[in-house]
Amino acid sequence: MIKECVMTNKNMLIELSEAFGPSGFEEEVKTIIVNKFDKLKSYKKTEDGLGSVIFSKETDKDKPTLTLVSHMDEIGYLVKYIDNEGFLKVQNLGGWLTQSMINQRWVIRTKDKDIIGVSGMKTIHVMDAKERTSFYKSNNELFIDVGAKNQEDAMNMGIKPGNPVAPYSKVVELKNNRLLGKAWDDRIGCAMLIELATLIDDRLLSYNLNFVFTTQEEIGLRGAMTSAYLTKSDMCINCEVGVAGDYPYMSMDEAQEKLGGGPSIFLHDSSMLPDKTLQNYIENIATKNKIELQYEILAGYGEDGSMYQKSREGIPSINLGIPTRYLHSHNSVIDFNDYKIGIRLAYLILDDLSGEKINNIKNKLD
Ligand SMILES: [Zn+2]
Repeated sequence: MIKECVMTNKNMLIELSEAFGPSGFEEEVKTIIVNKFDKLKSYKKTEDGLGSVIFSKETDKDKPTLTLVSHMDEIGYLVKYIDNEGFLKVQNLGGWLTQSMINQRWVIRTKDKDIIGVSGMKTIHVMDAKERTSFYKSNNELFIDVGAKNQEDAMNMGIKPGNPVAPYSKVVELKNNRLLGKAWDDRIGCAMLIELATLIDDRLLSYNLNFVFTTQEEIGLRGAMTSAYLTKSDMCINCEVGVAGDYPYMSMDEAQEKLGGGPSIFLHDSSMLPDKTLQNYIENIATKNKIELQYEILAGYGEDGSMYQKSREGIPSINLGIPTRYLHSHNSVIDFNDYKIGIRLAYLILDDLSGEKINNIKNKLD
């Protein structure tokens, strides 16, 4: 049976959400993950050249290998330059909606310390009617105010080009076991993988199992490309945020998941179609165990699983999602129960799989 104590580790989820980790600067997130794995006994740690970290439970080199993937990075910025007045201009790391960047708090990580700043905005008092509905037109207009009096003042604070910038956002627990915070994309996947690795630690498996935490997903699935090459996987399950469509301004045509409806499997996104045999297999596990499964069909989106799917000769892959509202912002909302059910489903898959079943899925045998 699944250990209930592991299944209710909300604190780890909060710790991972609040960690600083824009693309290319995932060290703090990685430290949390490595510390969790240090307490486990059956995993060997390796890293690829881009800093993705891989924990392997090796059974037998001749047996097939399943890899579970999540990404450590979140969307953020790099300081581009400091203007004469001391405002920071930035380069985005990942996909920001321009309107969600206005008047937010940010953490700028310098060599010695973190500095808080705010993305400024023009005030309504001086705007005409037209300007009020179209303030920032591009990412280039974003500027961050750290309280500096001028360029030299900001430089004396230790700020320089290349400093990473992340949203400043602490987790708040909402009603109905829902959590408000940043970077659920994809710290929720990271948390799932840690929980699963803990649950499976003392099990003997008939296949090899990797838990992979990638870097630089938000800027083009870069850590997935290198880690997929390194792991020589035979099958991949990517654990990610799903896109909830259950709030004003969203329609079923855009996204189909709802909070509290359980985990999802993606049937289409712009980077991947899932393997149909693997999809059937997961649907059967869900049905057998009375787990409600949601489906997601998105026109956009992209995820690490797609790099694994296209790695080497091509492998069965699927994206498992936990529904999330308001993605790619300071304030996204998840339902803790969806997270728990997602872990349960993934655990049941790991529990049921065998080397033979992985080979059968690979060979498209139901
Ligand atoms: Zn993601």
